[in-house]
Amino acid sequence: MGKMVDALTYNMRLYKSIYTLRRNTSLKRSELERIQKKKLRAIIKHAYHNVPFYHKIFDSLNVKPDDFKTVDDLSKLPVITKSQVKCAGSDIIARNVDINNCRKFTTSGSTGTSLSIFFNKKDLSVRRSAYIRTMRENGTRGGDIGLDLTGPHNVSMPKNNKSRYYSTIEGILERSFGTPKTTGVSVFENIENQVTILKKTKPEVISGYPMSIKLLAMAVQDKSISINPRLIFTYSEVLDKESRNVISSVFGTDPIDGYGSIETGRMAWECSEHAGYHMDVDTVVMEFIRDNQKISANEKGEVVATNLHSYAMPLIRYKVGDISTPSDEQCPCGRGLPLMKDIWGRSDDFVKLPDGRIISPTAVNLIMDPFLSMLLNFKIIQERVDRFTVELVKGNDFSEDIIPKIETRFKDIFGDNIQVEPRIIDEITKDKSGKLRAVVSKVNVFE
Ligand SMILES: [Zn+2]
Repeated sequence: MGKMVDALTYNMRLYKSIYTLRRNTSLKRSELERIQKKKLRAIIKHAYHNVPFYHKIFDSLNVKPDDFKTVDDLSKLPVITKSQVKCAGSDIIARNVDINNCRKFTTSGSTGTSLSIFFNKKDLSVRRSAYIRTMRENGTRGGDIGLDLTGPHNVSMPKNNKSRYYSTIEGILERSFGTPKTTGVSVFENIENQVTILKKTKPEVISGYPMSIKLLAMAVQDKSISINPRLIFTYSEVLDKESRNVISSVFGTDPIDGYGSIETGRMAWECSEHAGYHMDVDTVVMEFIRDNQKISANEKGEVVATNLHSYAMPLIRYKVGDISTPSDEQCPCGRGLPLMKDIWGRSDDFVKLPDGRIISPTAVNLIMDPFLSMLLNFKIIQERVDRFTVELVKGNDFSEDIIPKIETRFKDIFGDNIQVEPRIIDEITKDKSGKLRAVVSKVNVFE
């Protein structure tokens, strides 16, 4: 009974939040700024009074919540990094929040450093509604059939069944809010099976990691099959121009790209005009910074985000790890949400397996998901087509048992005919450009 009440409460909040966020798209810039300022003041006040990590920072700088009236006032606080958040431990969790009632997300990102983020139920409904806004504003309907090419964590494997795809039951209520009925396909599924599922489901909406959708598009092209979804949504990886061209020429529709991160949720999205990314200024504050200074429109800067709906674990001025360009142009669609331009992000490698599968870096990262809490850092190096080295930097909860488990998981997903050598080291080596990369391949993947 409690569960049902929870589900109903969640869906009612979700419905309300989708309604509000969609209505906000028709507001003027000044009205959106007013909403953003109000929410910003509230989360700052909450962080100061309930989160020891921020209380200490405020005290050390001799500032109080009342000193923050506008977004520009945020520069009175330092930018914080993933490793600072990680070091803060429970100090960055709000004292008035029951962590057992929160949902935990773990991110590895592109650097191989893992971080756990907690969201309470109310914040979760806003987080989800921001994703749904992107879909609804771009024309999804409740009756749509969807296919999501995604990580295995989103794909429930039926027991006693090797099949890696599923029919989702999550979000049955959500569909009455206009989201597709989606079949999830693991990006680790071999490409032949992906094509078979695609032909069988004939989706109106395809979503997933852009590199994986591109690989699927290339396979579809080789087989001269005609698949014509109405909409394609990409997320989690940078959608480069070439991939965009391949996907849109094969499937006949230009992908709609979304930008976000596990830590902050959805932050920006394309509309059908493809004139840039509309920033979700009513749920997040995005700053663009270089050398600690705010940059002007049309310059490149590091993305720094303040989530306005993260009351369990506030992230204020969090460095996301990507680079983008704010724009002062108005989108032809007329929505008041301001625009940012291209995104430069992670630059990890693809890997190619002995059975011919090509796996995108985001997908490779997912192999490490079950072990993240025990590690400070990791790096996967493909030495040869059938040989991987996995560098591990121990975290607090590290235990030697994970070594054979890592080997087993690589073989389960990549195939028995590969060799895996986990290696414990003190510090991850940076590549020539000084970047920390989680996936490096010495194999020429696209040859
Ligand atoms: Zn637009």
